[in-house]
Amino acid sequence: KADSQLQDLDASKLHITQSTSLREVPEPNSEGVWGSKQCSDHMIKVIWTADHGWHAPEIVPYGPLTMMPTASCLHYATSCFEGMKVYRGFDGKLRLFRPDRNCGRLVTSSSRLALPAFDPVELEKLLKAFLGLDGPRWLPKSQAGNFLYIRPTIIGNGEELGVQVPAEVMLFVIAVPWPDLSTGQKPGAPPKAPGLKLLASKDDIRAWPGGFGYTKVSANYGPAFLSHMEGRKRGYDQILWLFGKDFQVTEAGASNFFVVWKTKEGKTELVTAPLTDKIILDGVTRRSVLELARERLSASSKDLPAGVEPLDVVERTFSMLEVEEAWKEGRLVEAFVAGTAYFITPVSAVNFRDTEIEIPMSNGDSGKYTAIVKDWLYDIMYGKVQHPWGVII
Ligand code: PMP
Repeated sequence: KADSQLQDLDASKLHITQSTSLREVPEPNSEGVWGSKQCSDHMIKVIWTADHGWHAPEIVPYGPLTMMPTASCLHYATSCFEGMKVYRGFDGKLRLFRPDRNCGRLVTSSSRLALPAFDPVELEKLLKAFLGLDGPRWLPKSQAGNFLYIRPTIIGNGEELGVQVPAEVMLFVIAVPWPDLSTGQKPGAPPKAPGLKLLASKDDIRAWPGGFGYTKVSANYGPAFLSHMEGRKRGYDQILWLFGKDFQVTEAGASNFFVVWKTKEGKTELVTAPLTDKIILDGVTRRSVLELARERLSASSKDLPAGVEPLDVVERTFSMLEVEEAWKEGRLVEAFVAGTAYFITPVSAVNFRDTEIEIPMSNGDSGKYTAIVKDWLYDIMYGKVQHPWGVII
């Protein structure tokens, strides 16, 4: 059939089968939450077939998937996903943060794998139905300031083993209590020093021009675990992925990376890698930091907080050599990572070619700009201020 004859994803056809045996909800930030295995009571499941398009969406009790050993995703990495959160606001409401961005990015990832596209608005409607069902029990009103992590996923599960585009695909969405990684403080563990320590990659490359680093395809993640594990062994929290002979800074672990420095001319800049080379993810948090900083931290802004020096927001290719030089010349102001899982977390050090670059944290546990941006986003996510990015369920 021509694409135009295939059924698009249609949330109005949703069928819900309620679970009859509800699952145990772990305490916030408990051991069970750090294991991030205790998914909520239900899940979204939608099948796509090459002869029909998207079938009627379902919400079903959480449980195992069945697939044939020949399933495409098990052999050819036809798999991509999203990471987002649902937040319990201080006004008692449940919110998603810019869900249109995540739903749209899942279409980009799926299309990069030759898996089907869909209308992202329909996925957003399904998410709202799903979280309307599981949100109240898994994120009760008494837990203002807490969140669940949501994982929309698309896998090729066609049964044909041949190296080809799968004729059957599944979209599923699960929700799981998740720890607050921005503090990194596990229950019962010794207190962790504030900030992340990053190890700059040496020979390993996460993504390259013409590849797929700009998407959230599963193949971007598994192969990075080896470097990650080595970093952990050496006492680092995340890998700072560099690219090219000139040590271009791309992103850190599964977060985007920002640095604030003074230029040689004495201007303050907030710098992050650009999207133009298609080797980094268009992070929703990254985009939001850039937009808020341009709006509220620039010299011309009437919202510039009192006592805060304005800065220029710059998206450009920059290298670790520049960061190192700024550090040596005392021009490094602060650095942080931005992403759904780690939210906004200060960076305390970067190891680059065995030199430990210590990053200032002027507030003691964070840089000043880092703290300001984090607070602004927090207030939107948890409904302390009303903002179009906070989408009420
Ligand atoms: N980079 C990578 C490689 C990621 O996996 C993520 C997490 N999705 C991010 C950056 C941050 O993106 P976001 O702010 O949308 O979570």
